[in-house]
Amino acid sequence: MKIVFANSAWVSAAERLILRGGGWQSVRLRVRYGLIFHPAAGPVLIDTGYTPEALSDDRRGRMLRLYGALLKPQLNAEEQVLPVLRRFGLSPDDIRTIIVTHFHADHVSGLSLFRNTRFIASDAAWARVKARGPRQNLRHGVFTELFPADFEARLEGLSSKQWVEAREDVPGGADLFGDGSVIAVDLPGHADGQFGLLFAGLDRPLLYAVDAQWLLTALTENRTPGFPATLIAEDAAAIEPTSAMLRRFLATGGEVMLCHDPAPTSYDLAPEAA
Ligand SMILES: [Zn+2]
Repeated sequence: MKIVFANSAWVSAAERLILRGGGWQSVRLRVRYGLIFHPAAGPVLIDTGYTPEALSDDRRGRMLRLYGALLKPQLNAEEQVLPVLRRFGLSPDDIRTIIVTHFHADHVSGLSLFRNTRFIASDAAWARVKARGPRQNLRHGVFTELFPADFEARLEGLSSKQWVEAREDVPGGADLFGDGSVIAVDLPGHADGQFGLLFAGLDRPLLYAVDAQWLLTALTENRTPGFPATLIAEDAAAIEPTSAMLRRFLATGGEVMLCHDPAPTSYDLAPEAA
């Protein structure tokens, strides 16, 4: 199964905010999203990264404008989701499935570009989004204006999937395609309902751990940041156990990939030849 990740945008953050004992210098973070080619489900997106819908669209509400002004992400034109799909000869209508790992803006920004896609996401977290008012959702980092109006009708919740155990060092998870190829593993801490994706069948098993941390170094060198990173976490107490699970996975030969880590990985799209 072909697995590709692209970088939708760059965001800068002071290292000390995302790495314990880090410096004041700023780190240029990626904002990845994935594209996998599943033998039965076809091309499947993993989130959408940032797109203009979250960052430059004139129709954005006041809070989304403020969010963009504070974080100042810079869109990476060549690796935006539409041009990347074109590179593979695909249009948005060819994408039948988008896996939505959690509901933060840099993961759901482009959902409205896809009119016929089903969404695989945490239905429990979606129920909580619906139960909250707009202001409460903002406190959870959720901008509901980025979701298509018929999101729920197209939602295929994790709870409808078979639960499987793939490895001893990773908790079980939802078998997204019923063949054990992609397993959604809970990653509590960062955001309500966040899950990662375990590709257990690869020569070197891969766990896409999304936003469990910003930097891989925080895992490999045991340097997960404290305050104020814990302040913006959904469940600060869960971050350390989740990070410890990822460390165990690394220690037994697994590969962990994060959404924002700046270092290129073997799954990142090669720059297009000029
Ligand atoms: Zn996030």
